[in-house]
Amino acid sequence: MQKVLYEKDIQTEVLREKKIAIVGYGSQGHAHALNLRESGYDVVVGLRPGKSQQKAEEDGFTVISVADAVREADVVMVLLPDELQTAVYNESIKPNLQPGNAIAFAHGFNIHFSQIVPPADVDVFLVAPKGPGHLVRRTYEEGAGVPALYGVQQDVTGNAKQIALAYAQGIGAARAGVLETSFQEETETDLFGEQAVLCGGLSSLIKAGFETLTEAGYQPEVAYFECLHEVKLIVDLIYEGGLENMRYSISDTAQWGDFVSGPRVVNDETKARMKEVLAEVQSGEFAKGWILENQANRPKYNAINAQENQHPIETVGKELRELMPFVKQPVNNK
Ligand code: NAD
Ligand code: MG
Ligand code: MG
Ligand code: MG
Ligand code: MG
Ligand code: MG
Repeated sequence: MQKVLYEKDIQTEVLREKKIAIVGYGSQGHAHALNLRESGYDVVVGLRPGKSQQKAEEDGFTVISVADAVREADVVMVLLPDELQTAVYNESIKPNLQPGNAIAFAHGFNIHFSQIVPPADVDVFLVAPKGPGHLVRRTYEEGAGVPALYGVQQDVTGNAKQIALAYAQGIGAARAGVLETSFQEETETDLFGEQAVLCGGLSSLIKAGFETLTEAGYQPEVAYFECLHEVKLIVDLIYEGGLENMRYSISDTAQWGDFVSGPRVVNDETKARMKEVLAEVQSGEFAKGWILENQANRPKYNAINAQENQHPIETVGKELRELMPFVKQPVNNK
């Protein structure tokens, strides 16, 4: 098995003498910038004027334009939305990269699908946290971290790997474990994971369960607790100790139901669909569709999003969560 690296395995000097530009201050951007600064690195934030700028300034950063940040920095981490990176890269990043600089990403999409082709005289690497940005920040503050993958696409300085590892240390990922990958593997597994399991698969499973119960006449509040709220409680047990730990904690009745009914819901047909999803990720068909959807100003994305936000599980959920003050404020309300 490949070696998972931790803080004790990583030399950080190579990054300590450099200036890091964090381009974008959203979910990942704010977490990387704050964590790196608190880990002792020299960070500048590059942004266009707007809401994120205000937030970065409130957090004590001097915010400059993307072009100026790239000019000042040795390492440029691109934390813009994937679909906007190419335009910003062409306009503000590429003209200001100097030979021997490094350009970095938290997801391999634009490099792997050749939307961005960096010059031959810079390092190109990725550090991809395997978790949402707000948890990259929250876990760091708690003294922990979110695991990350790192990968080097281009190494002109001979230091790209050390810089990537030091960067992973700086955001707290090396407290949890850092694993080497390629841009191809990171991109394809990340897209597959979020589509089939984490985001797409899970939200569809939750909705289908909720709809099955409410269509059978059960109360929506009961269906919400059963099919959405409890997901976190079950997932926490899985996260802490695997499926076995979760099954240890649930009743034997629940465990027998898991064994006899789970494989009927997620079955060979589901797995065949997962293989289709993976094939479309690998062939670039998914990427092409997403790029075109953005070029057309997201007609389908916006329509589906509006419809999803009106799902009855969302309505009942809002009411119930207001009565559970211990449930954390959603990150989109901060
Ligand atoms: P986001 O949408 O949360 O934030 C994007 C930031 O870019 C915002 O601060 C926005 O103001 C800024 N921005 C947008 N257009 C800009 C422009 N033209 N000029 C300057 N700044 C601009 O993005 P995100 O979800 O953090 O994603 C960033 C990268 O991290 C992506 O490559 C994504 O795939 C990757 N990633 C994200 C997560 C996650 O938790 N969201 C997890 C792993 C990897
Ligand atoms: Mg987002
Ligand atoms: Mg991911
Ligand atoms: Mg992703
Ligand atoms: Mg139960
Ligand atoms: Mg049990």
